[in-house]
Amino acid sequence: MARSDENPGKGCAAPAEAPQATIALGAPTFGEEELARVQKVLASGWVAGQGPAGAELEAAFRSRVAATHAIAVSNCTAALHLVLLALGVGPGDEVIVADYTFPATGHSVLFVGAEPVFVDVRPDIWTLDPSAVAAAITPRTRGIIAVDAFGQCADYDELTALATERGLFLIEDAAAAAGATYRGRAAGTFGIASCFSFHGRKGMTCGEGGMITTGDEALAAAVRSMSAFGMESAFARQGREQLTVPVFSRLGYNYKLSDIHAAVALAQLAKLDTLLERRRSVARMYQELLGGLQGVVLPLSEADRETTWQSYVLTIEPGLSRDGIALALRAAGVQANIGTYASHLQPIYGGKQRCPVSESLFHRHLAIPMHASLSDADVQRVAEQVRIAVQRQKEQA
Ligand SMILES: *Cc1c(COP(=O)(O)O)cnc(C)c1O
Repeated sequence: MARSDENPGKGCAAPAEAPQATIALGAPTFGEEELARVQKVLASGWVAGQGPAGAELEAAFRSRVAATHAIAVSNCTAALHLVLLALGVGPGDEVIVADYTFPATGHSVLFVGAEPVFVDVRPDIWTLDPSAVAAAITPRTRGIIAVDAFGQCADYDELTALATERGLFLIEDAAAAAGATYRGRAAGTFGIASCFSFHGRKGMTCGEGGMITTGDEALAAAVRSMSAFGMESAFARQGREQLTVPVFSRLGYNYKLSDIHAAVALAQLAKLDTLLERRRSVARMYQELLGGLQGVVLPLSEADRETTWQSYVLTIEPGLSRDGIALALRAAGVQANIGTYASHLQPIYGGKQRCPVSESLFHRHLAIPMHASLSDADVQRVAEQVRIAVQRQKEQA
C-alpha cells in the first residue's frame, strides 16, 4: 500500500522546504527588563539627560569596569570628540589612529582640526601594531588612539610604555569592548580615557549611546561639562537650597545621553555577562564547525585577553572571492558583510598613508552572523552555508 506522502495530488508542487527566516548578522537582545526600566523613567518624568537613571548607569558602569570616573554621552563618536577637546588637541597636531576601524575614530580627530595619521594593525588580531606606531611618531604627534578591534583589546602594555616614553596621550576606542579584558584588567581602564558605544549593533546597546571612562579627574570634569553646553549639570544643581544659576564658562555641546536610553543601557549592563557568554559559545561552535575549512582563516582570540566577539570575522584566502561568498550566503538567507574599514582608503582622509595589512583585511574579511539571540540551529545553518559557499568559490577559482 502506497503511503499517502509518496504520491502528492495533481497540481501540487514537490513538497517545498519550510521557508527559513534570514539569519541576521547582528541583533540586539532585549527583554522585559528593558521595558520595566523604561517604564520607570517615563513615569518619573525625568526623561532628558543627566537625570537619576544616567547617574545610576554611570555608577554601575564605573564599578563594572573598575574605573574612577564614567560619563554617559550620546554616542562613542561624541565621546572621542570630547576626550580630544579635553586634551586640547587642535590644528597643527597629529594623532596616530589604528587604521582598521569604523571611520568614527578618524572623524573625531578631524572634528578638532587635527590630522589623523593612520597606522597599520597586527595581521592576526587586527589591533594597532605597536612597532608601526613608533615609526609614525613625528614632532607634531600628540597622542595615539588604539581600537579594541571587534571587542578585542589592543597591546596596552606595549602601547602604554611607548606613549609614556614619548610623552603622548593614549586613548582607548573601546566602542565594542564592554566586557572585554586584557591581562586581567577590563577594557575601559587603558590610557588616559576610554570611549564606549551602545549603538544598536554593539553587544551592549540602548539604540544609540556611549560612555567615557577615565581615571583623570580634570578630564572627567571637562568632558562632563562639554557634554552639556559647558554648564554645570542639572542633576548636580537640583536640591540645593538657594537658586543656583549656572555659568557658561566654556564652549560645550549637547552630547548628553537621555535617561530613557540610560534605562535601556542599565538593563543591558545587568545582563552583559549572560549576553557575552552566549556570544562566546557561538564562537566556540563556529570554531568547531568551520575548523579545517580550506580557504578560510578563523578569528584568533589571544590567550591573555577576552574578546566580546562583537563580530565573527573570517579571513578569506587570496584567490577566493570574498564578495562572491558574501552574495551566496545572502542568497541562502544568511546575512554576511565586510569586517570593517581601512580608514586610510576613505577619500575624506586624503590618502596620505599606506597600511597594507588593514587594506588586505578590508578586502578579505567576511563577517557572519554573531549575536546573543542566535540558536544552535542558526549557528549550524550558518556554518553549513559557509562551507557550501566556500566550496563553490573554490570550484570557480
Ligand atoms: C561603532 C564604533 C564607533 C562609533 O560608535 P557610535 O556610538 O556609533 O558613535 C567608533 N569606533 C568603533 C571602533 C566602533 O566600532
